[in-house]
Amino acid sequence: MDPVEEIKERLDTSEVVGSYVQLKPAGANHKGLCPFHNEKSPSFMVSNEKGIWHCFGCGEGGDIFTFVEKIEGVDFKAALEQLARKAGVALPERGANKGTTKQKERSLAATELAAKYFQRGLVNSKTAQDYVIKQRGYNRQIVTEFRIGFAPDASSGLSDLLRQKGFKPQEIIQAGLARNHNGKTQDLFRRRVMIPFMGNNGQVIGFTGRVLDDSLPKYLNSPATPLFDKSRFVFGLAQANNTIRTGDGSIVVEGNLDVLTAHQFGSESGGG
Ligand code: ZN
Repeated sequence: MDPVEEIKERLDTSEVVGSYVQLKPAGANHKGLCPFHNEKSPSFMVSNEKGIWHCFGCGEGGDIFTFVEKIEGVDFKAALEQLARKAGVALPERGANKGTTKQKERSLAATELAAKYFQRGLVNSKTAQDYVIKQRGYNRQIVTEFRIGFAPDASSGLSDLLRQKGFKPQEIIQAGLARNHNGKTQDLFRRRVMIPFMGNNGQVIGFTGRVLDDSLPKYLNSPATPLFDKSRFVFGLAQANNTIRTGDGSIVVEGNLDVLTAHQFGSESGGG
């Protein structure tokens, strides 16, 4: 519900006005001496039913917000904040959207650099290449299209790279690429084959990392981030769209990769 409507629903007009003006019941309404002009007999009326106040003497009137604006000499925003506190209604944070958009852009820049780092990791690791191509049977086209990579066994290789590129530790953690371990920024993914999750625009929004052996967890997924909503994400959507567009006809996602949706393999992921 709109906070303005919710506040109006929760607060009686006579309650708000009554904390500034002495009101007396008058039929279905309340009345009192107008605070906005000088008068001896009350012509200031308040209707809880309609959520309004009106002075028949000077013609002023409005709702609880305009009343607080006038009597306190503040703007609508300040009146809204004051009445929200009184009603116990939470207001959406101002400028929150802007901040989130900026944060998402930073996270996307970080995940893109991470994808490149992991792709380089695969090129540099014979063991990982053998696993991906020989054991899993992914061909070069799939490796390229899905941007499959490898996270080297380094505790902060990716974090160090991102910090060199100007990312703050907090931004690296927010992007779901690292965690704080005893005050140190530590890479989340190590010695894992990395498959990026891609958003509808083909942007990398998160990763799943698979171990090379039988150790657990078999799959480790990015934590939920502003970019990556696990419950809503369908793996391979961007690539599947691409496949449909090119008229290839094959569903690369099925069969070749043993994961379909983040939801499905969510149960296999864990800490560590
Ligand atoms: Zn008046």
